[in-house]
Amino acid sequence: MPAPLFESSFLQDTLKPSATSPRSITLSNGVQMSLLQKGVLKISPPADAKQAKHMVISSAVHGNETAPIEMVDDLASQIASESIVPQHHLLLIIAHPKAILAEERFVETNLNRLFGDADYPQSEELALAVSLKEQVTQFWQDVPMASRWHLDMHCSIRASKHYTFAISPQSAYPTRQKEFIDFMQNAGIEAVLLSEEPSSTFSWFSSSKFGAQAATLELGQVAKFGHNDMSKLAQFHKAFLELVQSIESSTATDMITYQVDSSIYRENMDFEFYFDKALPNFSRFAEGEELGKDGDKALTMPVEQGGVVFPNPNVELKQRAALIVKPCATRYVDNQLTVID
Ligand SMILES: [Zn+2]
Repeated sequence: MPAPLFESSFLQDTLKPSATSPRSITLSNGVQMSLLQKGVLKISPPADAKQAKHMVISSAVHGNETAPIEMVDDLASQIASESIVPQHHLLLIIAHPKAILAEERFVETNLNRLFGDADYPQSEELALAVSLKEQVTQFWQDVPMASRWHLDMHCSIRASKHYTFAISPQSAYPTRQKEFIDFMQNAGIEAVLLSEEPSSTFSWFSSSKFGAQAATLELGQVAKFGHNDMSKLAQFHKAFLELVQSIESSTATDMITYQVDSSIYRENMDFEFYFDKALPNFSRFAEGEELGKDGDKALTMPVEQGGVVFPNPNVELKQRAALIVKPCATRYVDNQLTVID
């Protein structure tokens, strides 16, 4: 019997201050588990796995968003104990151990803004972004585009009219294939926001650079370890484990699709929103309703059935203070979810 891969668990080993020495084991069912670096675990399915994809499953890009970390840790444990046999190549990521230990979203700066092409100032998080980009690039080398998937799992600070929702990042490639969207529906993701603007998030990096089926998944609200209401994520967790094992799932729920109508950028120091600070994401306003003011200019809802997402009146000047979204009709064109204008 080979020595176990972890001293205690993927998560507990990741949180230890000591350096991680790369190591790997082969389980009796043929699954290989390789710890590549602290918080990065590569798993290869048994040799007879048919149509195996290469899936990146990331958590803790924000350190205090614990439900996804628990799901990734649990998956690693279940694979190690052979109670789950993955049918895909997996790259499991617990991105930011220092932020987890600090119970903070980040230590110096928001890691999920560092995956773009800009020259970012040095920070704790930049080093993480650089090394994660390298690991993902390595993992997808020589893998056909359609086999690249990335679930980047988060929880929201803000309440939401949709308990779970996804952001499908902009890409020049067909990254909204039916199989991927079907997974999100099976997983009970209530809404998907189809973004068409370049971004700097981890999932944007995967979809725009690698043509991966990628999404930022917002899975309920932030809570401390052990305090997540996993019953609210039961459908997601079930579909997630089925996905990894290639088990057909058929619990599809209706999913609302949104597109971005416009963004509100802050132009003046004198800037405020009139709605409650804790306004849930996707709250709707009537067309023309006043949302706030920017200097002398009134900010009004520019569109019918428009919703407000990620409002933040305290952003720096010229930064985005809110997204205005609107529901949109979609259909599949060449197997790709497409907005019907
Ligand atoms: Zn997050």
